[in-house]
Amino acid sequence: MIRAIKAWARRWWAVRPKLEVRKWFRRSIWIVEAAERPQTLRPHRLYVTRHAHGPAFGFMLCPCGCGETIQLRFMGDRRPRWSLESPSGRPTVFPSVWRQSGCRSHFFVRHGHIDWC
Ligand SMILES: [Zn+2]
Repeated sequence: MIRAIKAWARRWWAVRPKLEVRKWFRRSIWIVEAAERPQTLRPHRLYVTRHAHGPAFGFMLCPCGCGETIQLRFMGDRRPRWSLESPSGRPTVFPSVWRQSGCRSHFFVRHGHIDWC
């Protein structure tokens, strides 16, 4: 009986941290370097094209799940324009992303996480 409980507890502890990591990972956004606008985008990735002086454009699937592509401009003077920081591949985009059409999602990308507004 005690052995059964111990075995159950061991299994539970073995699974629990994995679930936490999976949940954390699922919510994360990672930087992917791209030569040009990707044909197909996968979720949880921010595809970044670069020019000589830094990031040029970013492309990501809308995190709400609507399937729309969000394009972010990181260079030049035209608006809207965002800044991108990505120490160790976890992007922070500023200011917030606010879609003016479709799902109208409004969120921040901070340290690789989506913070909904
Ligand atoms: Zn959306």
